[in-house]
Amino acid sequence: MGKAKDKSWKLETKTIQSGWNPKNGEPRVLPIYQSTTYRYDDAESVAKLFDLEEAGHMYSRLSNPTCEAFENKMADLEGGVGALATSAGQAASAISILNIASSGDHFIAAGSLYGGTVALFTNSMKKLGIEVSLVDASLPLDEMERYAGPNTKAIFAETIANPAMDVLDFHKFSALAKKLGVPLIVDNTFATPYLCRPLEHGADIVIHSSTKYIDGHATSVGGVIIEGGTFDWTSGKFPEFTREDESYHGTVYTRDFPESPYIVKARVQWIRDLGAYMSPMNAFLSNLGLETLHVRMDRHCENAQKLAEFLESHPKVNWVKYPGLASHGDHENAKKYLRGFSGVLTFGVKGGREAGEKVMNSLELAAIVVHVADVRTSVLHPASMTHRQLSEEEQVLAGVSPDLIRVSVGLEHIDDIIADFDRALHKV
Ligand code: PLP
Repeated sequence: MGKAKDKSWKLETKTIQSGWNPKNGEPRVLPIYQSTTYRYDDAESVAKLFDLEEAGHMYSRLSNPTCEAFENKMADLEGGVGALATSAGQAASAISILNIASSGDHFIAAGSLYGGTVALFTNSMKKLGIEVSLVDASLPLDEMERYAGPNTKAIFAETIANPAMDVLDFHKFSALAKKLGVPLIVDNTFATPYLCRPLEHGADIVIHSSTKYIDGHATSVGGVIIEGGTFDWTSGKFPEFTREDESYHGTVYTRDFPESPYIVKARVQWIRDLGAYMSPMNAFLSNLGLETLHVRMDRHCENAQKLAEFLESHPKVNWVKYPGLASHGDHENAKKYLRGFSGVLTFGVKGGREAGEKVMNSLELAAIVVHVADVRTSVLHPASMTHRQLSEEEQVLAGVSPDLIRVSVGLEHIDDIIADFDRALHKV
């Protein structure tokens, strides 16, 4: 073991110091353990690993030292008890549900979600016999509760919805989850643990597309699931946690892994069977991204606020949605739950979709890309891109109007970003 890390460190210190714990003479920087396999002195050691009697690496489809350091850092940053790195944010969303719901089960999700998540929930989950109710997140609690039944197993929502930019009412959603006796799963991708720590506001599980601000440089697709450690899996609603798992010689997750039963189960069942684990190279890059998360997020927030204010006052702009603007419907929620308002905003140009497309095509610094949340300013038109596969009704629920342009505000000088948008807006 290397020197123990100080648990009371501030988040800005943890983004740099947590996770990798080098022993005497070992590399200071997290190494890339580019190895599928691990060597053992005797067969019995391996048998113990297979029986989950001992912790250790066995095969890099299940765990790997580079990924483990990234997982430990993410668990620490979110204030959780364990984490699991996945090959993509999509795998994190899918496994977060599959780990607790089976055919015949149901869950409730806020309707304003990333389009890929809506498609996953309404198509692929449905094929597996798991039903979702996409609900309007602004409904009062008792109306939302009407969607629940005895087979409801989870509530799912995004901290800041992509691209609706709604800010989650944690108080209401966690109250509903508690009332139903199910976990609240929160996708914290747009906020990152620097701007919001959902576990402190009643969430039980946090997921991320680490592809976004965590990597921060658009180099690596990845995801992560974090367990809060406070949810009671023994209520009887989740028998897979409390009965013997035949595929692991009678392991009972809540009995044998009381500290982190959800993450252990997700790893040894779903990652084992689906193989959707993060690669060591991507864990290295994601960890490198985390080391500057706090510095980058401050500037993303500052630049986005300035661009949002500029666009809001521009005569060619119809509307702007950014949680940092007083005009945003969830501004009070945003101030309550977020330390900063993130780097993404949406706006609509006077003249609608056609005029908006002209603006997008006229931008020089900001590029049209199918991505969000990296150092370079970029734009996207969700209705024809990320949310294209959704029905019209699902698009409305997801907050995607035909004229909506999503801007991921980067870390370039704000004067250059504003000048780019100003120039493009004058073309319409
Ligand atoms: N969650 C949110 C909020 C996202 O924006 C995305 C992707 O854009 C995902 C999940 C899916 O992540 P990935 O693209 O890493 O699979």
